Amino acid sequence: MTRRKLVVGNWKMHGSRPANAALLDGLLKAGPYGCDVAVCVPFPFLSETAVTLAGGPLRWGAQDCSAHEQGAYTGEVSAAMLAECGCRYVIVGHSERRALHSESDQLVADKAKAALARGVTPIVCVGETLAQREAGETEAVVKRQLSVVIHSLAHCAGEIVVAYEPVWAIGTGLTATPEQAQAVHALLRAQLRAAAANADEMKILYGGSVKADNAATLFAQADIDGGLIGGASLKAADFVAICRAAG
Ligand code: PEP
Repeated sequence: MTRRKLVVGNWKMHGSRPANAALLDGLLKAGPYGCDVAVCVPFPFLSETAVTLAGGPLRWGAQDCSAHEQGAYTGEVSAAMLAECGCRYVIVGHSERRALHSESDQLVADKAKAALARGVTPIVCVGETLAQREAGETEAVVKRQLSVVIHSLAHCAGEIVVAYEPVWAIGTGLTATPEQAQAVHALLRAQLRAAAANADEMKILYGGSVKADNAATLFAQADIDGGLIGGASLKAADFVAICRAAG
């Protein structure tokens, strides 16, 4: 089945008002793309990004959200606030948050649930570390991470986007080969099929050092429906080239 591809830029903790304006201008001018394109920006830039992109072809989102509705959670940002800023997506369970902020599988699932409750699509990241891959644990790790989300979301599981991001490939310049990535995507698709009637329409993105020169072969794999792009999403020319490879 042909699924429309989705390419999402994860700006991480990068950007400034002038740099963002130049980047978004470059992305808007180079479109339209033959795929869906979104940028996930730091919280303080969401409102301005919404104003810049409103009514246009590019979507926007955030990089995290709270699992809580509202309340005394200093520093957290709720899914309702993201929805008010027009966010289409929110990344949850990025490996940097799992590793640096000790986010558990259950917390990631709770965040995904909170996002869906507000109409924001969670991009749920899963992926193994190098040690886990070398120990032959890749399948078990990604299945465990996804199964907690599937179990928590129950009948809403079909509404998420999944991103397979091998931790050893994020920001390292090491990319999974198209065959390695496809093998994991196929496993994840099979797992989704057991849980969601629309699994064949769901998007599973690949992330981990995707660049202009490796994007096309990755995106040509049967179960790779686009990419979650970190470093290469910060330069308009690079991100444009990746979006074109998906189009
Ligand atoms: C990411 O941050 O999700 C990512 C994939 O980063 P990079 O493209 O820089 O490896």
